[in-house]
Amino acid sequence: MNSFNTTGILYIIPTPIGNLSDITYRAVETLKNVNLIAAENIYHTNILLQHYNVKNILISLNKNNEKKQSHYVIKKLKEGKKIGLVSDAGTPVINDPGYFLVKQCRSLNIKIIPLPGPCAAITALSASGISTNRFCYEGFLPSKKKVRCDLLKSLKKETRTIIFYESKHRILQSIKDIIEKIDENRYLVIAREITKKWEYIYGAKANEMLFWLKEDKNHCNKGEIVIIIDGFKELKNKDVSEKAISTLKILRNVLSLKQSVLITSKIHEIKKNNLYQYAIKKEDK
Ligand code: SAM
Repeated sequence: MNSFNTTGILYIIPTPIGNLSDITYRAVETLKNVNLIAAENIYHTNILLQHYNVKNILISLNKNNEKKQSHYVIKKLKEGKKIGLVSDAGTPVINDPGYFLVKQCRSLNIKIIPLPGPCAAITALSASGISTNRFCYEGFLPSKKKVRCDLLKSLKKETRTIIFYESKHRILQSIKDIIEKIDENRYLVIAREITKKWEYIYGAKANEMLFWLKEDKNHCNKGEIVIIIDGFKELKNKDVSEKAISTLKILRNVLSLKQSVLITSKIHEIKKNNLYQYAIKKEDK
């Protein structure tokens, strides 16, 4: 590993995701004390700095100039400078610029100090009422239909809670795709505009969510969105889903018990024996 004998430090500084008050004392102090701030958008960060009366030098570091600007920042760090990294909102590097810079600093053994602070995914998760024990963060749902659907399909049996970022433009289509590729009955939560005027956190099964979103245009005409999807739950051995029961009933009108069970278990991907036990019990009654 290359190692620089430098006192330079890169500070990763989370900023508010809406409400300007959501910033730590330490973040404001650090914004004041660093030698310069690398910001995703200078104009945007200036609003924050003015609000907290911070005067400092800003340079831009965004997805279009990330490599070039990172080299400049590293040069300054090697000179011993303290540099703050901020994005437009939330934690830098999390679906925001900065990964290249952080990776370079790590490989050069340049010190990085990350400050804790706002992150839309974690804030939404904390209020979702969906299990927080194990979760996976998938960033933005892909915009291309096929890529999005393939990804959702691959996550159908993901048992951890799944977190996506989404925009108001695609939310309806994404919920339709979740219904189609995951399950219309899967429970999910939409957290919109957290910490802002039009904030809501709403949970429902996927098909009910689609209905709710369409029911009132105010439900999906604005804002930034986090989608939290409940993880896949394996049916317990003896559990038979409602859908399987209704399939079984229909088939049973025209087929033998054995045939009905076999076909139903294939359609609904459930164990034949469990279904058979269930069916026998029902028919005995
Ligand atoms: N680095 C940020 C973080 O720590 O959350 C994420 C930046 S990413 C470019 C922006 C996306 O985060 C938005 O499109 C939205 O999906 C989500 N997001 C950001 N702020 C939000 C908020 N106040 N409410 C809901 N979602 C938000």
